Amino acid sequence: MLRQGIIERYGEYLPCVPEGAGIISLSEGSTPLLRAHNIESRIHPRIELWLKYEGLNPSGSFKDRGMTVAVTLAVREGHKAVMCASTGNTSASAAAYAARAGIECVVLIPKGRIAKGKLAQSMIHGARVLQIDGNFDMALELTRSITNNHAIALVNSINPHRLEGQKTGAFEIADDFGGVAPDFHVLPVGNAGNITAYWMGYKEYKEAGKSKNLPRMLGFQAAGAAPIVLGKPVDDPQTFATAIRIGNPASWQKALDARDESNGVIGMVTDRQIKRAYRTLAAAEGVFVEPASAAGIAGLFKLAQSGFFDNVEQFHGDKIRVVAVLTGHGLKDPGNAVEASEEAISVEATEDAILDAMQLYHPSET
Ligand SMILES: *Cc1c(COP(=O)(O)O)cnc(C)c1O
Repeated sequence: MLRQGIIERYGEYLPCVPEGAGIISLSEGSTPLLRAHNIESRIHPRIELWLKYEGLNPSGSFKDRGMTVAVTLAVREGHKAVMCASTGNTSASAAAYAARAGIECVVLIPKGRIAKGKLAQSMIHGARVLQIDGNFDMALELTRSITNNHAIALVNSINPHRLEGQKTGAFEIADDFGGVAPDFHVLPVGNAGNITAYWMGYKEYKEAGKSKNLPRMLGFQAAGAAPIVLGKPVDDPQTFATAIRIGNPASWQKALDARDESNGVIGMVTDRQIKRAYRTLAAAEGVFVEPASAAGIAGLFKLAQSGFFDNVEQFHGDKIRVVAVLTGHGLKDPGNAVEASEEAISVEATEDAILDAMQLYHPSET
């Protein structure tokens, strides 16, 4: 059977897409939910951890869920171009969906701060890539102003259609568990669109009778870019997890609402903790993500160490069910992967030298 895109699969929950609209899709969504046996036991004995692997979307991040809706509606409204500011994945996704739709795409990015894979995507899809000397927050301000005054559709997550599409991730999780939401839902927080969208999705699904319960939302920012945790904007946000290097989140208040309504937590983790989680996901589970995607897992380790999970209640079964959204694919950012790993070893082209270097066994010892 052909894999449906999210508008086809969940159209009845997307009233913003009118009947008969020409859907612009790359069959996004329906991503795997993987049990993480190896990591869960290291976090806490009571935890059952599931990974929602959003890196397997068509452009390699969850941004595609929102982009199919935003570009479908931009085309429907007669726009010939879309524009976004981006730390990388929004532009990669916008460029792909604009190409699919046959319209122009303009992306505004902070110079020198975009992971290589993401830049490559925008370029190969034919977007007009403009770099500014400035950070993401400045790029977003400029994009807002330009799209307000010209006939260009803004496709950043302040476009409400993006969040409508992104909420379908929550539907998929509840569907995969047979109509129950997890006890906890954890994810990285940058502009805070995704935490807003997931919370919206879980609430709508419960109201529709498709899910019995609601999860508690756990969001994690990088310590060097943690405005929500600190309670004030960060002028010069710093973290190697570039996708969450944001100092003034667009959906700040909605993220606080999601936290408070769900009795959740928004915390922060250091780059060191993110890096450890990033390597552990790849080495212990075979799941390669980009650095920002590991912030949620780093946050789980941190919460568990503080005793958070010792006394919490679970809704379902005898374990605490946790879903972690892994937001983007590891191949987006090959530079950080190489840097976080051991160097390749140079060896002579002989069997003996190779076996030596393998350090498994040596023929003379058998
Ligand atoms: C966009 C993005 C985030 C942050 O999501 P927000 O909705 O901005 O909070 C996290 N990880 C990756 C890989 C992203 O592309």
